[in-house]
Amino acid sequence: MNVAIIGAGACGLMLSTILSKNGIKHTIFNTGKIGNKILASGNGKCNISNYNFDLSKYHNKKLASIVNSYQKELFSLFTELKIYTRIDEEGRMYPLSESSLSVLNILLKNSKAKFVDLEVSDIKKENNKYLINNELFDYVVIAIGSPAGYKNKDSFKLLDNLNLKYKKFIPSLVGFKTNLKIKEISGARAKVLATLYNDGKEVASEKGEVIFKDDGISGICIMNLSSYYNYLNKNNPYILLNLSDNDYDDYSSVINPKILNYINKNKINPHKFIVPITNTYSLEFAQVANGGIVEEEINEDLSLKKYKNIFVGGEIIDIDGLCGGYNLMFAFTSAIKISKEILKWFMKLIILK
Ligand SMILES: Cc1cc2nc3c(=O)[nH]c(=O)nc-3n(C[C@H](O)[C@H](O)[C@H](O)COP(=O)(O)OP(=O)(O)OC[C@H]3O[C@@H](n4cnc5c(N)ncnc54)[C@H](O)[C@@H]3O)c2cc1C
Repeated sequence: MNVAIIGAGACGLMLSTILSKNGIKHTIFNTGKIGNKILASGNGKCNISNYNFDLSKYHNKKLASIVNSYQKELFSLFTELKIYTRIDEEGRMYPLSESSLSVLNILLKNSKAKFVDLEVSDIKKENNKYLINNELFDYVVIAIGSPAGYKNKDSFKLLDNLNLKYKKFIPSLVGFKTNLKIKEISGARAKVLATLYNDGKEVASEKGEVIFKDDGISGICIMNLSSYYNYLNKNNPYILLNLSDNDYDDYSSVINPKILNYINKNKINPHKFIVPITNTYSLEFAQVANGGIVEEEINEDLSLKKYKNIFVGGEIIDIDGLCGGYNLMFAFTSAIKISKEILKWFMKLIILK
């Protein structure tokens, strides 16, 4: 049995460790730096998962149920691979080393794949097998991720050539641009309650740190709100920042002096700092993308309806989660799910022999 994995990211590499453990021959085709986004995740600390499963943290609840089914198995797999973790108060899991590189090194150490540096743009069917780079494969797994984090990424020829329907990729977990003149507080940070409003109604609220930029705002709480923003019929969207939980007669020791000076000068109420939204920043600055292969193309076992024995996993599927380890957790658990199907066939082959 021969398996091709397209994409050496979180999903592809985790799948490779499982196939390697079970003695299944496989090749990974990858373009670009292996494990690029694993390295970038959690600011280089690698927020590899979240201990608390929470369906509300995902868009596309049906596919997110995969996480629910395989989360415990994933945590056992971490231990088996000797990825020892610490869990913070919000359930975010990090390797004890707090280094993404150590996670990537462990995945690579446990992979027995043949690596081929190639951008796969088409897969040809030959009898019951698939031809990639002059080699025939019984199974193919497409785990090519999304264009988030890249300046100009257009590697979706593969999906076009396979005639797969996918939703346009738009930035998610990204900061917002504003037309408010805030350059003078660029770089300043504040602990806030940030609430997204659209059409005069409250959409979602997040507590956390806001970071002011030349022409916009960012920070984890803001990035999470961007994930809700994508689903809105936009009508006068804005973020309301509450800079303090309590009322004070003097905010000098409560609010960052740069920000305090700005709000005083502009007669802004510290509980009602309104930041109008003109757009999000581009995909290059996003942690994930909203969009990807649509659910109707995919069977419950993550194989494609149009192609027997081709599976899809990770962020190339139209699913995205909030900050906190949820996206890597989906990429990893989808790899576990796909491995089950491949292992089933492998066991059948062994019995037939
Ligand atoms: C800056 C940043 C920070 C992040 N922080 C976190 C975090 O803390 N926690 C979290 O859960 N998530 C985080 N994410 C998101 C998370 O990293 C991704 O959701 C996850 O890595 C997706 O895994 P994947 O395997 O689906 O795709 P990827 O990891 O993107 O891997 C896909 C691989 O396929 C390759 N490829 C693409 N097209 C082809 C082709 N046609 N042929 C061959 N190879 C191809 C790509 O070059 C890449 O190497 C972050 C993302 C970014 C950008």
